[in-house]
Amino acid sequence: MTELAIPLVDLKAQYNSLKDEIDAAIWGVIQNSQFILGEEVAAFESELATYCHTGYAIGVASGTDALHLALLASEIKPGDEVITTPFTFIATTEMIYECGARPVFVDIDSGTYNIDWELVEAKITPKTRAIIPVHLFGQPADMEPILELGAKYDLKVIEDCAQALGAKYKGRRVGSLGDMGCLSFFPSKMLGAYGDGGAVVTSNQGVAERIKLLRNHGGKQKYFHVINGYNSRLDSIQAAILRIKLRYLDDWIKQRCQKASLYRRLLGEIEGVELPDIAPDTHHVFNYYTIRLKGSRVSRDKLQEYLHSKGISTAIYYPLSLHLQEVYRPLGYKIGDFPESEKVQKEVLSLPIYPELSEKQIREIAEVVKEFIK
Ligand SMILES: *Cc1c(COP(=O)(O)O)cnc(C)c1O
Repeated sequence: MTELAIPLVDLKAQYNSLKDEIDAAIWGVIQNSQFILGEEVAAFESELATYCHTGYAIGVASGTDALHLALLASEIKPGDEVITTPFTFIATTEMIYECGARPVFVDIDSGTYNIDWELVEAKITPKTRAIIPVHLFGQPADMEPILELGAKYDLKVIEDCAQALGAKYKGRRVGSLGDMGCLSFFPSKMLGAYGDGGAVVTSNQGVAERIKLLRNHGGKQKYFHVINGYNSRLDSIQAAILRIKLRYLDDWIKQRCQKASLYRRLLGEIEGVELPDIAPDTHHVFNYYTIRLKGSRVSRDKLQEYLHSKGISTAIYYPLSLHLQEVYRPLGYKIGDFPESEKVQKEVLSLPIYPELSEKQIREIAEVVKEFIK
């Protein structure tokens, strides 16, 4: 039995560990009263670009907006096609749709749950303009073959890094591999704000300038507008908080990886339980720790109920593949189109993971999982 409930993430514990610094940063912005753009945002953008190994970072209002502006900067238009995975958060395809383009799904790899690059080329048509690989749960997609296809067919490659800030692929940070990387600072992501926030990272100066215009009403200078834009800026208060937290990110990643190894040691030998598969040459940052209850031996939903009855929170990312969502009925997809994604949606369960999660808590979670499976 667990003594205290274990949440999926514990944002309060993280705040408590940084309270003085965070409070000072917030009050600093209030005192200075530059709430929109300005110094804090510019400083954060420059630190973030350095961290991501990109020339530029542009703060925007959310990860969803980062995807939207990245697609607009890629000149995605009605009638175009954009290739992506059906096993991701809706925001990835929502913004493709928002641009009037068609999301073209490609099934996932059964081990990493990331887009299966071997299936991509067959889906490229004269209308294809971009590929959005998603680095799901904190693990980079296999980018090299995707970048090769991008180059071969002249497609933009936009990385959805919402769950993977800090992850590396062949030694390079995600976000620096494709034409652009889209980040989310949603509170439960790798680098969480105290509200919504996001960023686009890129090393292309023209793209960076375009995104800066798009996020701020299409102009560089107040009341002079060169293109049609949006109001999608990262708040200065959020930037000030994120500047503090960015300094701890690598340390938090180390701690997440240690928690993941402990889970592996404790859950490694259970029949029917598959632990996260780490692809060669990738550094998984474990935004989520997702196990899979393979086959029919153990019911994922019953295990989740059992864990909840013991006070352990879990989540299902994601219970329904995007091609089967009601909103995409007009696209004409049907059950059976992406068998891996459809299998995985029934079998995955994400367990608590965050830097402050204690060894004792992980042992308790592992005990409850084992107890149920016996
Ligand atoms: C969270 C998330 C987003 C959207 O980010 P928001 O900041 O919540 O808008 C996009 N893609 C993926 C894969 C995500 O997990």
